Amino acid sequence: MATMTTERTERHEFQAEIKQLLDLMIHSLYSDRDIFLRELISNSSDALDKLRYLQASDASIESAGDPHIRVSADAAAQTITIADNGVGMSRAEVVKNIGTIAKSGTKEFLAAAKAAQRKDVTPELIGQFGVGFYSAFMVADRVELTTRRVGEDVATVWSSTGDGTYTITDGTRAGHGTTITLHLKPRSTDAGDATDATHGDKLERDYTQEWTIRDIVRKYSDFVAYPIRMEVTRTTPADKTAEGADAAPVITVEDLTLNSGKAIWDRSKGDVSDEEYKEFYRHISHDWQAPLRTIPVNIEGTYEARALMFLPSQAPPDLYNPEMKRGLQLYVKRVFVMDECKELMPPHFRFVKGVVDAHDLSLNVSREILQKDRQIGVIKKQLVKKVTSTLDDMKRNDVDNYTTFWREFGPVIKEGLLGFDESENEKLLDLVMAYTTRKAGELTTLEAYVERMPAEQEAIYVLTGSSPEAAAKSPLLETFAAKNIEVLLFADPVDELWIERAAKFKGKTIVSVGRGEVKLGTEAERKQEAEALADKQREFSDLLACFRVHLQEDVKEVRVSNRMTSSAACLVTDGNAPSPRLQRMLAQMGQAPEKVKPVLEINPNHALFTKVSDIFKASGTDPRLAMFAQILYAQAAISETGQIPNPAAFSQALSDLMLRAAT
Ligand code: ADP
Repeated sequence: MATMTTERTERHEFQAEIKQLLDLMIHSLYSDRDIFLRELISNSSDALDKLRYLQASDASIESAGDPHIRVSADAAAQTITIADNGVGMSRAEVVKNIGTIAKSGTKEFLAAAKAAQRKDVTPELIGQFGVGFYSAFMVADRVELTTRRVGEDVATVWSSTGDGTYTITDGTRAGHGTTITLHLKPRSTDAGDATDATHGDKLERDYTQEWTIRDIVRKYSDFVAYPIRMEVTRTTPADKTAEGADAAPVITVEDLTLNSGKAIWDRSKGDVSDEEYKEFYRHISHDWQAPLRTIPVNIEGTYEARALMFLPSQAPPDLYNPEMKRGLQLYVKRVFVMDECKELMPPHFRFVKGVVDAHDLSLNVSREILQKDRQIGVIKKQLVKKVTSTLDDMKRNDVDNYTTFWREFGPVIKEGLLGFDESENEKLLDLVMAYTTRKAGELTTLEAYVERMPAEQEAIYVLTGSSPEAAAKSPLLETFAAKNIEVLLFADPVDELWIERAAKFKGKTIVSVGRGEVKLGTEAERKQEAEALADKQREFSDLLACFRVHLQEDVKEVRVSNRMTSSAACLVTDGNAPSPRLQRMLAQMGQAPEKVKPVLEINPNHALFTKVSDIFKASGTDPRLAMFAQILYAQAAISETGQIPNPAAFSQALSDLMLRAAT
């Protein structure tokens, strides 16, 4: 809401979340306030990137000098100013960008801050989250921003004391870009009691001192690609004059560049500290946690490129959002070209963050060109290879971290298994981890499973369920348990899809135990079992037919099987039909395919069937038979999908049966 004061001066209220954020900034105790400079420089660097991107597509866009960031400080006035000649902002953009929350990181930050005692949380959190522009209020009690959007004549002046409102007015600025002036809070060494309750609002460092600024810039922003300049005045005492009198001191003004600006990916690995990699990761990803792995890449050959990639340690909240920001930053010979270059990473590696510097690409490359560019294709292949080999190495040598990684990103990698390239699939399968019937809660790899397989076992057996725990309880596993055969358990929605394809890994087919017939044991054993089963099928054939009639709406067939040892019944899928779980998933996604009925299999050795068979022999029209059929079907469905398919019919059958048992 804006109140007009003069013609173009308006007072606005901050959005509620911003007020909370500002409140945290202003009252944060003992936090690492130095990071305010990192945040403002990082915004300037982004603004210069944006300008460079605009200029790449439109040569007529003006350029106010060479792109740079300037820091200036005034010790007497206690102000520090950060200026850039980047894109700048229009008045509307200022209102939109400064004063309302757009990015999810800020919301996360607030949620995390709320989740714990404020005092405990703020010190670490503020330092860890990129809270951007508002961090200025950690050190300043008044902030003024003057900005002019490239191509516009009027500048906009924004000003606030962080008290819930800000003013905005027209102004002037020489050239496009943004200047932010911070009026610093008093220092704790200034007059007043340093231990009083307001101590947290006072500064421990003098941010107008050259060395303080140099120190902070070197620590957090050394890799920023644009020069960060500062003018410093040096006073040198002059030599005595010939007469022996004191001469006026010599004053020199130097324009220093505070950052080395050396692209971090151009430096050799041994020269870069972990801390520097971490800062750089934070700069490009806006992730406040340290990366799980840092992957420097040097591509040589026909096309040269250098890259620096990172594996995050935690999945971002938008990982499954189609709008997710993904892809790598693209540079050409250290000049920023574009953000989120999707052409460099396939969707199943979309969590990878990083930069790629392609040496032989044109600076004016557009997204359309990128899609067809051979060079990009070659670079992408190398990068994918490197990510894969890094993950493979982690899987072998750093199991704990790999397990953490897999829990966060496994489902995304498995999306890659839906592709049609078999050799690529085999490489991805090599990365897959699964729960196992061998030990509850443990993750294992396909490779380890294959190594443990007895020589005569022909396939890799897997089962999907709504959770690993639910899958582990499935009646479908009973014969496997009896025969001591390990089965891998999968519970991510994507598993339904790739397992359907019966891919091969190390020459062994991946077979879902919930599908069709499963062949276990030796040829002779199988033959014997098949004969025994055929006998049972004959023995119960009339009863099975009776069940089929009662369940004709729900199942395709009712047959005996030797899958189970203790359960009475289970549901399986025949041939190529989608499994009941997959059908339910597709229905939830609004793409309900034609319902394919499952097969109800019963365990002929279960004591229940001898009894039911007796009832059936006494009278094929005994009303209990319909109840048994309903309840068996529901039980089997619950263990498969976790859901009762027709609750009304099930409840009715159950209460009828209870009534009979009770009378
Ligand atoms: P973030 O930079 O993480 O998006 P900030 O709160 O730091 O969040 O900034 C909000 C927005 O304000 C930025 O996304 C950008 O659009 C704009 N902005 C901030 N600083 C500048 C600047 N120096 N030049 C141009 N735009 C800026």
